[in-house]
Amino acid sequence: MLILVSAAVALIAVAFAAFRRERSLYIYAAAYVCAGLGSTIMLWQGSRGSLLSVSAASLLDAAFQLCLAWGLRTSLGHPRPWPRRFGLYLAICLLCQILFGGASMLRAASMSLFAILLAAEFLVALEGGRPTIAAFMRRSAWVVALVYMGGFMLRFILILAFRDSGAMAMDQDLVGSYTVGLLVFFSVLWGGLVIGLDISALLGELERRNRSLAELATTDKLTGLGNRHHLESVVAAEMERAGRYPQPLSLVLLDLDHFKHVNDAWGHERGDGVLVRAASLSRGMIRDTDRIFRWGGEEFLVLAPHTDLDGAAVLAEKIRRALSDELHPKVGTVTASLGVTQWKPGEGLGELFRRVDRALYRAKRGGRNRVACLGPEEYSQQSLVRLELQAELESGNRLIDDEHRVLLELAQDFLDLPPDSPPSTLGPYFQRLIDTAVRHFADEEGLLSLAAFPRLAEHAELHRRLVAELNGLGSRLLAGQMDLGEFCGFLVDDLILGHIQAEDVKFFALTRVTGPKGAARGMRSTPP
Ligand code: GH3
Ligand code: MG
Ligand code: MG
Repeated sequence: MLILVSAAVALIAVAFAAFRRERSLYIYAAAYVCAGLGSTIMLWQGSRGSLLSVSAASLLDAAFQLCLAWGLRTSLGHPRPWPRRFGLYLAICLLCQILFGGASMLRAASMSLFAILLAAEFLVALEGGRPTIAAFMRRSAWVVALVYMGGFMLRFILILAFRDSGAMAMDQDLVGSYTVGLLVFFSVLWGGLVIGLDISALLGELERRNRSLAELATTDKLTGLGNRHHLESVVAAEMERAGRYPQPLSLVLLDLDHFKHVNDAWGHERGDGVLVRAASLSRGMIRDTDRIFRWGGEEFLVLAPHTDLDGAAVLAEKIRRALSDELHPKVGTVTASLGVTQWKPGEGLGELFRRVDRALYRAKRGGRNRVACLGPEEYSQQSLVRLELQAELESGNRLIDDEHRVLLELAQDFLDLPPDSPPSTLGPYFQRLIDTAVRHFADEEGLLSLAAFPRLAEHAELHRRLVAELNGLGSRLLAGQMDLGEFCGFLVDDLILGHIQAEDVKFFALTRVTGPKGAARGMRSTPP
């Protein structure tokens, strides 16, 4: 019976081990091979057991129990699955066989105590490893081990009680029958238990990995902040909440200034260090109810529930100051520009993000290391146009292309304004535009002159006319005599995109071909 049980459990463990390639299962299989061999020897020897065969059976039984503890320690990731004392236990077991070989009562009693000790080792293994086993299985293992210990304790007492009743051969007296019953019962129980523990450890490990995968999916690896993917779902949920229980909700978008320069000058690794420090400083500035995410490269987004635009502006200023006060090793000061906006009930994620991005852009254009706010009312929801410099409209010269982009951004500011903006608010926008256009035209003419552009005079004349027209229209706009939409039409169709498309392209052949050479001939490729 015992042989059959051992063989069956060993087979199951081997099949599991081969399927899962799991070391601990091979060890459990080995445990049952030991148990099966031990029982075979006992059966074969019958009542005429020699000292050698009885000792071998006892040693195999000890090996069975040690393998159970070894397998469990392996599956739970103990640093030393087979501690040195296990070898010592085997040695003591062997010593007992030698010492008490002649006195079978003493040998059997010592083996009972030994079984109790090894069951205790099983419990030590259970409590010491990774906590991947479910509480229910852990409790079950305790029950099995304690009952097992109790069973062997009873055997020990029986041996002492019947010590005078004659032969101690296992198949003849009460102790013998009890021992066989005990072994069969616990072979099955241990078998079920170790397989249950293995499955439980496997499920626990799966759960742990699932959790870490979920964390990976929502966390930015470098900074430990929530990532962009996580951000969108959290912001959407906060918008929902702010809409349901009317509460303000604000966003702060932070972008480190001239970060490319940090990487170029100090290397990417140091750049990463600055990013990590900036992330932790910013996180330290926000409330527990606020959330901070890595929006992208060197940009972070703070989500501030229950906070209006003014409150978020104060928060942004706090973060800005903390960052500008920080001295990064070697790199020194790295400042940030921050855009702030408040959610407008009913608006979607796209509009909200676009507005906070515009606010950030204003902070950049305003000179960096500053905070710029853009309330929902200051920004037209109807502005669906996004002006961008397409690749085919790039001249190949960095200064010209950068200035074209700035002009487009300034035009975008006009497009984003509410159509009914009072003329008195438009002055600063117009001043920035005309100053930038005049400077750009002068830069462009200077470059074209160095590159000996044959149609320079004609091109410069177009510039002069555009500036005159811009001045004329601007005066009318500020006097309230011109519609903002019409003015925007002029900016896009005539002053910027129209001019680039129709006129600037004529010198592109020159600037594109002379890219680096142009620089050598005196064409500046970086802003002065
Ligand atoms: P500004 O924002 O002030 O206009 O200038 P900038 O130089 O910061 O501009 P930009 O946004 O064009 O450049 C961002 C740079 O950030 C580009 C990239 O090299 C760097 N960056 C993005 N992600 C990482 C990162 O994970 N690690 C490091 N070291 N650098 C990054
Ligand atoms: Mg950036
Ligand atoms: Mg930047």
